Amino acid sequence: MGLELRDLSKHFTVRSDRGKATVRAVERVNLGIPEGQTVALVGESGCGKTTIAKLVLKLETPTSGAVTFDGKSLEEMSRKEIKDYRRQVQAVFQDPYASLNPRLTVRRIITEPILAHYKRDRATLNARVAELLEIVGLPPRAADLYPHEFSGGQRQRIAIARALALNPRIIILDEPISALDVSIRAQVLNLLMDIQEKFGLTYLLIAHDLALVEHLSTRVAVIYLGSVVETGESEQIFAAPKHPYTQALLNAVPRPDPDYVPKAAEGFDDTGSALEPPSGCKFHLRCPHAMAVCKTDNPPLIKLADGREAACHLLSGPPPAQV
Ligand code: SF4
Repeated sequence: MGLELRDLSKHFTVRSDRGKATVRAVERVNLGIPEGQTVALVGESGCGKTTIAKLVLKLETPTSGAVTFDGKSLEEMSRKEIKDYRRQVQAVFQDPYASLNPRLTVRRIITEPILAHYKRDRATLNARVAELLEIVGLPPRAADLYPHEFSGGQRQRIAIARALALNPRIIILDEPISALDVSIRAQVLNLLMDIQEKFGLTYLLIAHDLALVEHLSTRVAVIYLGSVVETGESEQIFAAPKHPYTQALLNAVPRPDPDYVPKAAEGFDDTGSALEPPSGCKFHLRCPHAMAVCKTDNPPLIKLADGREAACHLLSGPPPAQV
């Protein structure tokens, strides 16, 4: 069954000029993360995808709804079950310079999570470290070096080795290559694909790099101001995005043509925010197809004929009169 987000919401209370206000960072997200697949959460920064990752990692508690694992809500799990969940769900973060403790050798970095869960003798640990370094393409002598003695790409390999140390089922990949030199991104990407196949891993990918998402993901959930606006097979969505926001995101991907102007990005100056989301469809202030109904009615996520889901009045019936 694996991981599932069920009607998941996370609201934060913040102080604003007008007193306390509520930020609706994640709003009623439903999403399955099928075993062995890569589900990508895409959207602009601040859209809620990192908050979703934190909820999955149990670094935040939902305001309502649940993250479930094998059918059981994380909030209902016993301490022992949560410990096991933390073993099975690991993460690789964006910045390999910040995510590795500079005072520890690679051997310590990789063995720490193992020792947090199991008693192991030194010989067993050393053998496991050597095995993991080989899997991620680093030499055995790397075990006794410190993070600063490696390049960014090598540090990300160390972070991947640490994530694999406990034989997880799921890895959260939070912008896993965006902090790396362009020249080595493909190598780390290939490593991620290789280990996914080898160990049958499930990935939840957080990324704004749509080229990476297209390459790595099997399913995509497009998030706008905390809500899923389109979700489906990656191939479907990249070939023919249905939601105007997805179309805008894909149009904004840099093109080699210097005269190319992103269509839907024109005139995007009033974006709304998760603090004061617009009424109706949250995208209506930016949408080139906005209609009168879009200002008042929030479109539900509906299943389309090809199996994907999207939330847009254009897709749910005859179009009402234009504004
Ligand atoms: Fe645009 Fe209206 Fe669709 Fe929202 S519901 S994406 S404003 S057409």
